[in-house]
Amino acid sequence: MKTPVPDYLDEIRTLCDAGEDGTLADYIPELAAVDPERFALAACMRDGVVYATGDADVEFTIQSMSKPFVYALALRDRGIDAVLAKVAVEPSGDAFNEISLEDSTGRPDNPMINIGALTTHALVGRPGTGEFDRDLIISAGLSAFAGRPLGFDDEVYRSEIETAFRNRAMANLVRATEIITDDPDEIVRGYTRQCAYRVTVRDLAVMAMTLATGGVNPVTGQRVVTPRVCRQVLSVMATCGMYDAAGDWMSTVGIPAKSGVSGGIFGALPGQLGLAAFSPRLDKHGHSVEGVRTFERLSRDMDLHLMNVDGADVEVVRSAVTDDEGGRRFRLQGPMTFATAELVLRQFEEIPAGPQTVTVDLEHVSTVNHTARRMLIEGMRRLGLDGHEVVLVDPERRLPDPGLSSPAPAGR
Ligand code: GLN
Repeated sequence: MKTPVPDYLDEIRTLCDAGEDGTLADYIPELAAVDPERFALAACMRDGVVYATGDADVEFTIQSMSKPFVYALALRDRGIDAVLAKVAVEPSGDAFNEISLEDSTGRPDNPMINIGALTTHALVGRPGTGEFDRDLIISAGLSAFAGRPLGFDDEVYRSEIETAFRNRAMANLVRATEIITDDPDEIVRGYTRQCAYRVTVRDLAVMAMTLATGGVNPVTGQRVVTPRVCRQVLSVMATCGMYDAAGDWMSTVGIPAKSGVSGGIFGALPGQLGLAAFSPRLDKHGHSVEGVRTFERLSRDMDLHLMNVDGADVEVVRSAVTDDEGGRRFRLQGPMTFATAELVLRQFEEIPAGPQTVTVDLEHVSTVNHTARRMLIEGMRRLGLDGHEVVLVDPERRLPDPGLSSPAPAGR
């Protein structure tokens, strides 16, 4: 048998064809010279398998899609608080190249718009890192996310830097207010270089999946950043990644995402998959027209919306039986989280104190998160204090043996 997933992705291409809708980004002259008919789509799975269709090996510049990754590097290098002190995390509701600053502090509204990304760029590396070293850190960092050394497009860089008047004005503004203390020209050069790395949709899908796994590249196995950094980046992508279309995107597509004026969009669905689309014609927000259509379609067809409620109707307690001696056996199932563990604790609460055996069977439990683990351990400890012998059936050894951990093991 052949998996139908590639056939489905091939079909998407035809279904999302937008004809000649949209225009090329002409404020960067070199970007106006690309073939507008290109289309590519890739999906990276948790185990690093990448499905791709269309012009999946065609390289284009990463542009604003570099922003979440460089934000991740700044968070890694300076810590979340130090970065938050310089760049806020509020959606601006304005276009990517607007001067969107917080009134009270002068901090750029968020790291996904240009003024915030210029500031974030200056926060990569240790304080005092110079232009050359910062470039090296960014080149190595973006490449670690992609799992291969990314090339650089000097022509696009030159084309953009010659006309980067607006970005230069913004870098000078954050320098004037001392949000940054570096030379603004150096920051504009570095930021413009960060936008000129070359990627394919395959690269972007792997980069997205690296964020979606909590920081481990699924292809190379390398840990690039921590889960806490990924959570911060994904949150900011979800609220600010699509600029003044962020609310619309979140409600229709529901995947944390970032677009670039080269025509790429990538999306990272936490724990599930990394997606990337490429098609150069842009809408009025600067997002790829066919890219947006593709994400809308994929989200709808494959139930990828982050706010989809799946599995909430699964019974947490698969069965609860009482044996001849009055012993109780609870067979639990599904994921154990705060909400499901709370239901289990309430069932424990109904067991009268006494010397019976209480068996807690986790064989059909899929996952136990940190909080649920603590809750179940405490519940079993309290059953022990009530005089019960607690027996844990836990083939995957996700909880400690209650007989060993309980300070007052009953009936032993
Ligand atoms: N390099 C581009 C700029 O600074 C990136 C913008 C984008 O992709 N939205 O204008």
